[in-house]
Amino acid sequence: MTRPMCILVTGGAGYIGSHTVLQLLLNGYSTVVVDNLDNSSEVAISRVRELAGDRGRNLSFHKMDIRDKPALEQLFASTKFDAVIHFAGLKAVGESVQKPLMYYNNNIVGTITLLEVMAAYGCKKLVFSSSATVYGWPKELPCTEEFPLSAANPYGRTKLMIEEMCRDVYASDPEWKFVLLRYFNPVGAHPSGRIGEDPHGIPNNLMPFIQHVAVGRQPALKVFGTDYSTKDGTGVRDYIHVVDLADGHTAALAKLSDPKIGCEVYNLGTGKGTSVLEMVSAFEKASGKKIPLIKTARRPGDAEIVYASTTKAERELNWKAKYGIEEMCRDQWNWASRNPYGYQTEAKKLGA
Ligand code: NAD
Ligand code: UDP
Repeated sequence: MTRPMCILVTGGAGYIGSHTVLQLLLNGYSTVVVDNLDNSSEVAISRVRELAGDRGRNLSFHKMDIRDKPALEQLFASTKFDAVIHFAGLKAVGESVQKPLMYYNNNIVGTITLLEVMAAYGCKKLVFSSSATVYGWPKELPCTEEFPLSAANPYGRTKLMIEEMCRDVYASDPEWKFVLLRYFNPVGAHPSGRIGEDPHGIPNNLMPFIQHVAVGRQPALKVFGTDYSTKDGTGVRDYIHVVDLADGHTAALAKLSDPKIGCEVYNLGTGKGTSVLEMVSAFEKASGKKIPLIKTARRPGDAEIVYASTTKAERELNWKAKYGIEEMCRDQWNWASRNPYGYQTEAKKLGA
C-alpha cells in the first residue's frame, strides 16, 4: 500500500487552515499541523478530526511557533513531508500599523526560518497564503496576476516581501517549487457549523463583524464610506467561500507535482464584486436578523473596488469557486448561531 502524501500545515488551527486541513484529510492526505494558537484554538483541531471521521487519525497537531527553529528541525527530522502549506502569520492591517516590528518578526522571520529548515531537510515544495492586498488600489479591474504590486501597510509589505523572497529562492535553486495564492476575501464556514472564523478580540473584517452584531456582541456595524463611486456608494470586494478557498489548496498541491512548475502565482476569488450593503442585506436574509448600521467615513487606506480575474486559476489549477453570496451568508450564520462565542461557546455555557 502506498503511503498517503504528508503535508505540513503551518497555522492549520486558524480560520482558513482548519478548513483546508479538513479538505486535505477528506482527499486522502495525511496532515501535520503546527500552530502557536496565537489567534486560534485547539478545539478547531479536534472538530476537524471529528468531521474527517476515520481519516481524522491522519491529523496530528503540535503547539509550536514556526520561529522556534530547533523545534521545527526536530519535527522535520522525525517526519518526511512531501510539501508545506504555509498559513501561519499575523493578519490584522490596523495592528500591523501600530506594531510593525511584531508583524515583520512574526511573518518574515517565521517564513525565513521555515524555508531554511525545509531546505536543510530537502523539502522544497511550498504553497503560500498571499493576499489581494498586494494589488494595492488597482487601477484596472479585474485584477490579473500580472498587475503591478504595491503595499499600503506593514501587513501588506510582509506579504509582498515573502512573495519576493520565494521568487529569489526559486531563482537561486530551481529544485524549489512554489505556488503563491492571492486570496481575495474569505468568508463563510464549513456547512456543518462545527468550524468557522473565531478571531480573538474585536474583528477588523466585514463578515466577522456582521456576525458579532448578529449575535449581540457588537451593537451596530460601522459602514466605512458611503461615497465611493460604486453601485450604492460602499466598498466592493470579491468574497469567496472558505470551503472553495480550501479546495483551491488541494488544487495547488496537485500543481506542485507538475514537473514544469517553478514559482507560480494564482488569484483565488470568484471574479464577482459585492458591496458592503449587498453583503449586509444577504446576511440579513440568511439569518433573519436586522443588522443596525452606522454610516461613517472611509477607512484610511481602503481601496474602492477589488475583484479577481479567475482565468489563470481556472485554466492552470483546474479550480473554480462553486459557492455564491447566499451560501456564504447561510454558512456564516449557521456557524455563528451555533457558536456565538466561537470555540469558547461551550466554556461560556459552563460559566467559565
Ligand atoms: P488566522 O489568524 O485564523 O490563522 C493564522 C494562524 O497562524 C493562527 O492559527 C495563528 O495562531 C497562527 N500563527 C500565527 N503566527 C504564528 C507563528 N509564528 N507560529 C505558529 N503559528 C502562528 O488567519 P486566516 O484568516 O486563517 O489566514 C491564514 C493566512 O492567510 C494568513 O497568512 C493570512 O495573512 C492569509 N490571508 C488571510 C486573509 C483573510 O481575510 N482571512 C486574506 C488574505 C490572506
Ligand atoms: N468594512 C466596513 N465595516 C467594517 C469592516 C469592513 O464597512 O467594520 C468594509 C471595508 O471598508 C471594505 C469591505 O467592508 O469596503 C471589506 O473590508 P474587509 O476589512 O473585510 O476586507 P479588505 O478591505 O481587507 O478587503
